Amino acid sequence: MRIARVASRAQLGLAAPRVQVEVHLGGGLPTFSIVGLPATAVRESKDRVRAAIAVAGFEWPAGRITVNLSPADLPKEGCRYDLPIALGLLLALDQVKIPETELERCEFYGELGLSGELKPIRGVLLAAAHAAQVGCHVVVPTANAFEARLAAPASTHHAASLLGVCELFSSGKRDIADGPPGAGLPATPLTCARELDLVDVRGQAAPKRALLVAAAGAHSILLVGPPGTGKSMLAQRLPGLLPPLEAGEAIDVATIASVSTRGFEPRDYGRRPFRAPHHSASASAVIGGGPHARPGEVSLAHRGVLFLDELPEFNRAVLESLREPLESGVVAISRAALQVEYPARFQLVAAMNPCPCGYLGDGSGRCRCAPPLIARYRSRISGPLLDRIDLRVEVPSLPGEELLGEREADTTVMESATAAARVQGARHRQLRRAGKLNADLSGGEIQLHCRLDRNCRRLLAQARERLKLSARATHRALRVARTIADLENETGPLDLPIGPAHLAEALQLRRAID
Ligand SMILES: [Zn+2]
Repeated sequence: MRIARVASRAQLGLAAPRVQVEVHLGGGLPTFSIVGLPATAVRESKDRVRAAIAVAGFEWPAGRITVNLSPADLPKEGCRYDLPIALGLLLALDQVKIPETELERCEFYGELGLSGELKPIRGVLLAAAHAAQVGCHVVVPTANAFEARLAAPASTHHAASLLGVCELFSSGKRDIADGPPGAGLPATPLTCARELDLVDVRGQAAPKRALLVAAAGAHSILLVGPPGTGKSMLAQRLPGLLPPLEAGEAIDVATIASVSTRGFEPRDYGRRPFRAPHHSASASAVIGGGPHARPGEVSLAHRGVLFLDELPEFNRAVLESLREPLESGVVAISRAALQVEYPARFQLVAAMNPCPCGYLGDGSGRCRCAPPLIARYRSRISGPLLDRIDLRVEVPSLPGEELLGEREADTTVMESATAAARVQGARHRQLRRAGKLNADLSGGEIQLHCRLDRNCRRLLAQARERLKLSARATHRALRVARTIADLENETGPLDLPIGPAHLAEALQLRRAID
């Protein structure tokens, strides 16, 4: 064979278009060229391939070697083409034989080390999922096998080196289409990693209750309070109140991690993401981007929680760019020739101090912040962003006795497991009623699902008058009231109507920093 074709896939955002690696051997002076929009890392693959082939004991061909990555107009990056290039070369040289029928049904991924070992690459989960959709098997580095199996349990093969890949196909072995040994075994079950428990949070009955409501209706929440009152502790416990990820959701979350800068971590598989970027984070770190258009924190928090501590300290541009994902659940990133979209349906938990020094209203009298300073501090969060936060709750300083008292004496104890069961019940009712969670109800749906009786209408009219509620603020209060009614209705009929108590609590839950 003087020409060989080996299949692989590129990665563009969450798309994985197929790439044919064509290797051609010709006469003439010995050269080795790679064409088809290769990035630097791909061009450098020449040296790695040459070393790996020598170490594996194969002969390096004399003559012209041309590698074409097709389609030629698709940008190729990363080291994932090392293995298909090396394998194509060995096939073209007839040093390795793979029946055409098997080769057609396989895709190859892997970076080669100088001694021929296969190193893991980014984005294997995404590639394996796309390959499985068209009935193709994948051959991946052993270090990527767990990840690939999540998407393609019955068609993932792995090897630790270039020689190992050749052995997968050596004569007398089973046909690759039969699947890997042990295929068909149940895929790895979702890990039920122990989340942090609400039991550990002392006192703070009202913020805990607000967190429960936030979890039940998927409402965004802002925690306002002096430093050290447990805002972060509360935020970290939100994932533990949410229902476990469904299998498809877990794959989505893992796929985004798999194409991110940090990569996929098997121990995180099946857990609700909790992302807490620092307030100095850049827009491209939070929203996504960079030269390779990688997903940002908002996408890494997809199906989980995005925690922004010290919200007013974030760059204004970062805060503004949160509006799009909060509204639509996706982010679009444009980079030079690249336009990619990542999902970003996260639950926002934000925290802030009540004033620049942090101690306003904590009873110690330490705060000397002048009112204009406080106003300027708060105005760093724009109205449109604040508009998308349904719950705003004060997390006050704890009186000493509450902080130091016996846990048994703490009447506010709430166990995450109990709270999570209530959340699941409330969410179940919302999905059955509206097909979505309360935080996502549109204006029309609010009219349909958040009907008020005459008492409630009067209460709401008074509140609008007294608190000068905008139409948006009224909608937010109604969504939250719906969730509170859903939480109360544990065994009752499907739709407990919103009562005055629910509405009053909902209005209370948006009072902080007004
Ligand atoms: Zn202050």
